[in-house]
Amino acid sequence: MINIEFHGAARTTTGSMHLVEANGLRILLDCGMEQGHRKEAFENNRRFPFDVAGIDAVILSHAHIDHSGRLPLLARHDFRGRIYCTPATADLCEVLLRDSARIQEHDVAYVNKRRQAEGKNPFEPLYLPADVDSILKRFAPVPLDERIDLGSGVAVTLHNAGHILGSALVQLDAQSRDGRTRRLLFTGDLGQPQPILQPAAVVEGADVLLIESTYADRDHPPAADVQGRLKGFIEDIHQQRAKLIVPAFAVGRTQQLLYYLNDLVEQKRIPPTPIYLDSPLASAATALYEKHRECYAEDAVAHLRRGDNPFRFAGLNVVETAEQSKALNNKPGPMVIISASGMCEAGRVLHHLKNNIGDPRNIILITGFQAENTLGRRLVDHASPVRIFGQETEVRARIHTINALSAHADRSGLMRWFDAVKGNLSRAFAVHGEGAQVDAMAGLLRAHGAPRADAPAPGTRFEDV
Ligand SMILES: [Zn+2]
Repeated sequence: MINIEFHGAARTTTGSMHLVEANGLRILLDCGMEQGHRKEAFENNRRFPFDVAGIDAVILSHAHIDHSGRLPLLARHDFRGRIYCTPATADLCEVLLRDSARIQEHDVAYVNKRRQAEGKNPFEPLYLPADVDSILKRFAPVPLDERIDLGSGVAVTLHNAGHILGSALVQLDAQSRDGRTRRLLFTGDLGQPQPILQPAAVVEGADVLLIESTYADRDHPPAADVQGRLKGFIEDIHQQRAKLIVPAFAVGRTQQLLYYLNDLVEQKRIPPTPIYLDSPLASAATALYEKHRECYAEDAVAHLRRGDNPFRFAGLNVVETAEQSKALNNKPGPMVIISASGMCEAGRVLHHLKNNIGDPRNIILITGFQAENTLGRRLVDHASPVRIFGQETEVRARIHTINALSAHADRSGLMRWFDAVKGNLSRAFAVHGEGAQVDAMAGLLRAHGAPRADAPAPGTRFEDV
């Protein structure tokens, strides 16, 4: 028998966390951090709406912080179970959770300065590096497609999700006393076809489905020729001895860019141009993309077969220290700088923007979704001047956008995958989307033959699904 409670990424996109009871075992699917509006998220992230000590196991779909970011808090609440995920996810979590602890400390120190001035009590960080150390010990990496017995007639199997390195679909099988099995399938985040990672697997026989809905209400624009456009930008800055600045998301987007640049360089389709990877987090994530070859799609495997590491090429420089990063300011172009953060909210990219955004020869290349109220969004909206480090700065550099690198399937992709797995499905739940997206998804699921489809609100419980 399976019961489900929806506690995060329910009618919203962040904080992915669903509590499944299968034959009496209490299993948490994901333990993500709620992101966004600071104060409310800060308070929501602090408390769990269930008894943590009573959780038997966590199954983690992938390492993105909105799916994994609250794991270190479990360590503070007497969690004694295991955290099952793929080996690549375990490695990425080590990097991302340590980074998250650093950000928590930094953010709280910033807020506390103001609180202290106002005579208020200081806040505590959500968690500390020591909490990350203790939760990392609870990780139990399991290879893809290997069935793991959790006891009480319940088993978990992870399958490729094609979203980021290590991302998995979670299959939970609960066998009842009469020997029948009820299968729950959770997508985590579902990817779209891309050259580096294997595509999402088709898992048959699911009775209950939890499906993400990020792009349930729209299709991506037709995949533009990413390589062709990158080539054009690089030729442009080469001619003008200018700089191409790419604000990068550390996991996924950066590696896709490097992969395309690798081909352009090795096929000699662009003039020799220094390319700087200037983000310690993105560099660490890239090293893990190099390590976990078991996740590669055919195209990436073909690189390995001809002896090519698809993330390393002549002209690529990995910038390590902040001094090296700042030294790039005084170097003349042409050069490409890939630097975090992806939405231009923090990190080294801010220095590069400040120093280069006033020069019309330079190009700023935006490669992904930009949330409201971020500098990245203002750049995409062609605002000028913009505020960088508290200073109004005129935008004269040219702003371009490549939208084809999304790590999420769009509406058509989601429904193609659903049609392949829906077989004998009796019930579906749309999660991981704002209200409009999950409602759209529930409608689509019904239109595509799901007998029952809901878009549950946070805190809702469903018995015997
Ligand atoms: Zn994700």
